[in-house]
Amino acid sequence: MSRTRHSEDGPPCKHMEALLNQAADGSSRGLKLWYATAHAARCSRCGRFLARLRETIGKLRSAKADEVPAAVLERLKNGPWRNSESEEPP
Ligand SMILES: [Zn+2]
Repeated sequence: MSRTRHSEDGPPCKHMEALLNQAADGSSRGLKLWYATAHAARCSRCGRFLARLRETIGKLRSAKADEVPAAVLERLKNGPWRNSESEEPP
């Protein structure tokens, strides 16, 4: 019987990250959502990751933009949907 002392505070499973993101922001439904939730319940890293994502997204939706953590903003800026860098400083 080994102690569950391996690092819980690490990155989520690579192949789960996208699914967990979708589960957290509500864009995934049905089997995908179930799969991500079921995995997160058994995998401590993904569980933490999902919990944090949900917390962050909850804050994003309830708080004003100035409360958004820099890391989240950075992530949003680097999103794949943002291909054109047409914004120039005045
Ligand atoms: Zn996992």
